[in-house]
Amino acid sequence: MAFTIGQDDVMLWTKTRLKTFKYWPFDDKVPCSSKRMAAAGFYASGGKEEPDLAICFVCKKSLNGWEKTDDPWEEHKKHCPACPFVLMNKQEKDLTIENIIDLIMHVEVHRMKSIKEKTVGEFKKLAKAL
Ligand SMILES: [Zn+2]
Repeated sequence: MAFTIGQDDVMLWTKTRLKTFKYWPFDDKVPCSSKRMAAAGFYASGGKEEPDLAICFVCKKSLNGWEKTDDPWEEHKKHCPACPFVLMNKQEKDLTIENIIDLIMHVEVHRMKSIKEKTVGEFKKLAKAL
């Protein structure tokens, strides 16, 4: 089941996130594999230009400069201790429908905050121009 909010796909499932790691610099034999990145909540967003740029699908923290020995889940915990996905601390197979809806709600709140910031910024620009 795919989820969309507005025009954005919610990268809810590990399988969906894994597909984004086309240019990931490490193979599956190292701790920082694309599989473990996806399981830790990250999807790749840097394309060819920045192959090691990854974003959490819930807290939207973007991280780069990954080392092949990094543990994606530990890095997520270290950099985003307040991330709802980190705090949930569950593997995908253990998520309940309530957990999933909670995560989607966090994604939506984050999206609304971004819209608010953008809109406020545009209004401030307009006000200055008066
Ligand atoms: Zn996060």
